[in-house]
Parts: sequence; structure tokens; C-alpha cells
Amino acid sequence: MAWTCSGSTSAELIANMAKSGLIHSDRVAAAMKQVDRANYVLNKHHAYEDSPQPIGYEATISAPHMHAHAAENLQAFLKPGSNVLDVGSGSGYLSAVLHHLVGPSGKVVGIDHVPELVDRSVKNLKADGLGEQLASGSIVMIAGDGRQGYAEGAPYDAIHVGAAAPHMPQALVDQLASPGRMFIPVGDSQQAVYQVDKDQDGNVTQQRLFGVMYVPLTDRRQ
Ligand code: SAH
Repeated sequence: MAWTCSGSTSAELIANMAKSGLIHSDRVAAAMKQVDRANYVLNKHHAYEDSPQPIGYEATISAPHMHAHAAENLQAFLKPGSNVLDVGSGSGYLSAVLHHLVGPSGKVVGIDHVPELVDRSVKNLKADGLGEQLASGSIVMIAGDGRQGYAEGAPYDAIHVGAAAPHMPQALVDQLASPGRMFIPVGDSQQAVYQVDKDQDGNVTQQRLFGVMYVPLTDRRQ
């Protein structure tokens, strides 16, 4: 599935993901079309390959098909005006896609614990035409421990986690709005993506979606 989606241009990559059924909503396709992955990778020659790529500091930009899965999974909670947290924001790529889904009246907070990556993600977002959104605060990129979430900006209609947590982080569940949804990889050697839903009465349920291999959500001091 994954490797067949590669393209030679951004449009081709997204068209291939739509053809294969990975992207099935027009909203997600439109949002992803507005983000050029070449602005977020180190090696632009591989920008439109459907594979994760190193971005320095032991981090990788996730494969486009994982970004597509995440955006599709969360999209019902990504309405114009929605408030979103992107934990392990890395390159900033998904923060940009999320921004295009919630629009200028929404807010996306990206948090990563490597300050150098946060600085680079800001440069990437500016190169991708999102300087104004950073200046106005519709997109905010923060250096910090994402396992604690970002309480100042809570509650969040949607939370995306881009690195695998060893256990379900309660702080993130607590920061979900009612209703709200989180897309999070959990596990050590055996990881799976979980969809955590909080309903309008605050009841929390979780569902295992599929097995994955993400870099771990770690303690910076280790
Ligand atoms: N969504 C990003 C994924 C980057 S890889 C992208 O596609 O570009 C995972 C990221 O999680 C790395 O950038 C890493 O620095 C970050 N990370 C790991 N542990 C973290 C923690 N405790 N708090 C915040 N970020 C963390």
C-alpha cells in the first residue's frame, strides 16, 4: 500500500493517495494539496516519496500515508474554528495540514521537545507560505514536553501525536474537549495507533486502529 503512492510532484503524491483510497475526503485532499512536503524535508529529491525521512535530531518526518491516515481519522473534529494540538510536531508538516483543515479562525499548537526542530519547523512553515498564520497566532510552535500536552491551550477538539507513547498519557486525555478525538501511537516494541474519543458527557473510549512503527515519545534528558 504505502510505497505505491510515491509521486514525482506533490500533486501526483496526493492523487496517488486518493486513488489508493488512503485519502477519501475532499477536505483532506484539499488541505494536503496546500502543503508542499519539499518545504519540510532535508533532501528535496525524496520529497514526494511515500516514506518517512530523517529531519535531524533522531527525528523523522512521517510518511505521507501516515499523515493522510491521521488527517482522515481526525477530520470530523477538524472544523473551521477548531482547536488542535500536534504533539511531536517535528518538521511542522502535519501542523500545516491541520491548519488548512481548521482555517484562520481555528488554532493549531505544535509542540516538540527539540528546540532546534521547533525553530526549523517555523522556517519550514514560513517557506510554505504560512508566515502570516504564525504571526497572527493561528499556528503556534512550542518547545516543550508533549507528554504533558499544553494545558494553556486546552481543551482541544483534536490531538495528534506523532511519536509512540509507552502508555496512554493521561494529561493528553484530560486536555481533550468533550467531544474530542486523539490519534496516538502507543507501545514499545509492539506499537499500534489508538483512536481515543471523549464524548459530550466526558466519557472516554479507545479503539485500536492498526499496528505501526513510530519513533518513541521520550524524555529529553535520557
Ligand atoms: N509529525 C512529525 C513527526 C516527527 S518524529 C513529522 O511528521 O514531521 C516525532 C517527533 O516527536 C520528533 O520530532 C521528536 O523530537 C518528538 N518528540 C519525541 N518525544 C517528545 C516529547 N516528549 N515531547 C515532544 N516531542 C517529542
